[in-house]
Amino acid sequence: MRSVGSKLLFAVTLPALVAALTGVLVLWEQTDRAMRHASETEAIQLARFIATSFNTVDEVAPGARARAAHRAVTHAIRADWSTLTVVSDLRIIDRDGVVRWSRRIEEEDKPAAHADRIRAVTQQTVNFAPPSSWLPLQRGTGGEVLLPLGGIACAGCHTNESTLRTGTLQLTVDEPSVRTQVSDAFRRALSLVMLFVVVVGLALGLALHFLLGRPVRRLAKAMGRAEQGDVLVRAAEGDRDEIARLGKAFNRMLARLTELKAAEIDNQRDLERARLELAMKPELERVNKHLRAKVDELQLLFENARTLSSTLALDEVLERTTRALPAHLEVPRFSLMLLGADGRLEVRTATPADLASATDAAAAACRHAAITAKSVYVPDLAADTRFRPHPHPDAPTGSLLVVPLVHGGAVLGVLNFQRPQVADFSGDEIEFFTAVASQAAMAVKNARLHEQTVALSVTDPLTQVPNRRFLFGQLESEVARAQRFGTPVSLIMIDIDHFKKLNDRAGHPAGDEVLRQVAALLGRSVRRVDTLARYGGEEFAVLLPQVPRTEALDVAEKLRAIVAGTPMPNGAEQPLGKITISVGVATLPDDAKDQETLVDRADAALYASKRGGRDRASAFSPGMEVHPARERGPQRKPPGS
Ligand code: GH3
Ligand code: MG
Ligand code: MG
Repeated sequence: MRSVGSKLLFAVTLPALVAALTGVLVLWEQTDRAMRHASETEAIQLARFIATSFNTVDEVAPGARARAAHRAVTHAIRADWSTLTVVSDLRIIDRDGVVRWSRRIEEEDKPAAHADRIRAVTQQTVNFAPPSSWLPLQRGTGGEVLLPLGGIACAGCHTNESTLRTGTLQLTVDEPSVRTQVSDAFRRALSLVMLFVVVVGLALGLALHFLLGRPVRRLAKAMGRAEQGDVLVRAAEGDRDEIARLGKAFNRMLARLTELKAAEIDNQRDLERARLELAMKPELERVNKHLRAKVDELQLLFENARTLSSTLALDEVLERTTRALPAHLEVPRFSLMLLGADGRLEVRTATPADLASATDAAAAACRHAAITAKSVYVPDLAADTRFRPHPHPDAPTGSLLVVPLVHGGAVLGVLNFQRPQVADFSGDEIEFFTAVASQAAMAVKNARLHEQTVALSVTDPLTQVPNRRFLFGQLESEVARAQRFGTPVSLIMIDIDHFKKLNDRAGHPAGDEVLRQVAALLGRSVRRVDTLARYGGEEFAVLLPQVPRTEALDVAEKLRAIVAGTPMPNGAEQPLGKITISVGVATLPDDAKDQETLVDRADAALYASKRGGRDRASAFSPGMEVHPARERGPQRKPPGS
C-alpha cells in the first residue's frame, strides 16, 4: 500500500464497510431476537390457552365429560389447524410417556419421542402452574413448549394422587416465515451494503487516483528529478487546489534554487578562475619578469640603436658602444675588436682601458669566434682548457663570452664580455648579447660605408688623390687656422705642359696614365701634412700648411724637377722629349689675406710660369694677376694652346 490514495481508500472504505456490516448484523440480530421472543411468547400463550381449555371443561363437565371436552377442544384444534400457522405439532403426553392426543392421530397411544426428556422437564415443575419450558427456536427447525398438565383442575377426572400430574402438553412451532423473510431482507441488505461500499470505494479510488494520487505522483516525480540535480524541471500548476499550490510553491522554490545554483556555478567558476590564477601566479610572475627583462633588453637595444645611429663616425660608434654596453649589461670587463685588413683582430676600445688584448685565453676565444663567426662561451676561465691548454695560477677567473660582429655574412670583429663570477651568462643573455653585437656590427658597417662614401666623394677616381672639393675644405680650415694663429700657408698650382698634344698623339688612355703617374709622383714627393689634390683636367694643387713663401717655392721647384726627371710610360713624351709641369706659388699672408685671393694668386703665378716658357716654377709677385692674356682665374686659358 504505497500510495496516499490507496491508504485513504482503505482508511475510509474499510471502517465504512465494517461499520455498515456491524450495523446490519447487529440490527439483524436484534430483529431476530425480537421475532424469536414474539414467537416464543406466542407459542407459550397458545400452549397455556390450550391447557386452560382443559380447566374450563373440568368446571362444566367433570369425569367422562372431561375427555369429551378434551376431544372437543382437540377436534376444534385439529379442524382449525390450518389457522395455527405457527404451530407445527401439538401433543398431550401422559405421565408414562405415551401420546394421549396428537394432531397426528397415528401417534396417539404410542410412546412419545424423547419421552424421558419430556418427563424430566415436567417433573421439575412442582405445581401445575406455569412456567412452561421453552425450547428455543432453532434456525430452520423452530421451537418447542412443554407445559405440565394436572393439579386440582384435573382432580374431577383424574382422582388418584398420581393424576395430579396427568401429563405434559407438547407444542412445537415452525420457524416463523416472517423471520425467514427478514433474514432474506437482511441478506440482501448486506449484499447491497457491500455493493455500495464497493461502488463507493471504486469511485473514491478513482477520485483519489485522478485528483490526489496522480498529481501527487507527478509532483513527487518532479521533486525526484530536482533531487537528482535537474533544477530546470517544473511541476504542473494548472488547478487551484492545494496540490497545485504545492506545485507552485515547489516551482518557486526550484526557481530560487536555480538562481542559487546559477550563483553557485558563478561562484565556482570565479573560484576556479581564482584558483587557476593563483596556481598560475608563479608562472605569471616568472613570465612577467621574463617579459620585463625582454622589454628592458628591447629598450636597451632601442637606446643602443638610437645612440649608434646618431653618428656615422666609426670612432664615435666604437666609443659609444664601449661607453654604453658595459654599464647597461653589467659587464665590468669589455672590449671591442675589429678585424684589420691583415685579418688580425685589433682592440679598438676597452673597459677598463687597460684591458688591451685581454688574456691569452680570451684572445684565443676571440680568434675562434672571428674565424667561426659563432659565439664562444667560457663559463669558467680558470678551469678552461679549450683555449688555455696550460692553466696559469695568475690567470683571471670568471666567465667569458665572445660574440662575433657579423654583417652580411662577413665577420667585422668581436665583442668580448667578461664577468668575475663563474657561469654568469644565461642563455637569454647570450641571445641578447648576440642581438647587441648584430646592432654594433651594423653600426660599424655603416660607419665604414660612410667613411668610404666620404672618401669617394673627395677622391679623384682616376688618380686616387683628393679632388678639388677636398682641397677647398682643407684650404678653408688651414686659411682659418693661419689667420687665427698668424702662421703662413702656401698653395702650389701645377699644370702639365702641352697635355692636349699628348692626348692627340698618344691617345686619351695614355693621357690618363700620365695623369696617374704625375699624381703618384707628386703624392710621393710631398709631406704627410701636405694636401695634394687634382684641381682640374691636367691641373694639380698642393696645400702646404705652415710653409712660408720661400720654402713653398723650393717645394714647387722640387716637384717640377721630379716630374721633368721621371720618364713616362708608353713613350708619351712631350715635344721636348719629356713630361714637364708649370708651377705657381702663392703664400698667405704674403700674397693674399683670404682663401679666394690666395688661389687666384697661385694661379696667376702658374700663368706666369706658362708665359715664361713652361717647365718652371714661379712665386707670385704683384702684377702677375692683371696680365691681359689671363682671361679668368683658375680656369684661365693658357697661352700657346
Ligand atoms: P699648356 O701647356 O698651355 O697647358 O697646353 P695644354 O695642351 O696642356 O693645355 P690645354 O688646356 O689646351 O689642354 C688641356 C688638355 O687636357 C685638354 C684635355 O683634352 C686634356 N685633358 C683634360 N682632362 C683630361 C683627362 O682626364 N684625361 C686626358 N687624357 N686628357 C685630359
Ligand atoms: Mg691646363
Ligand atoms: Mg696644360
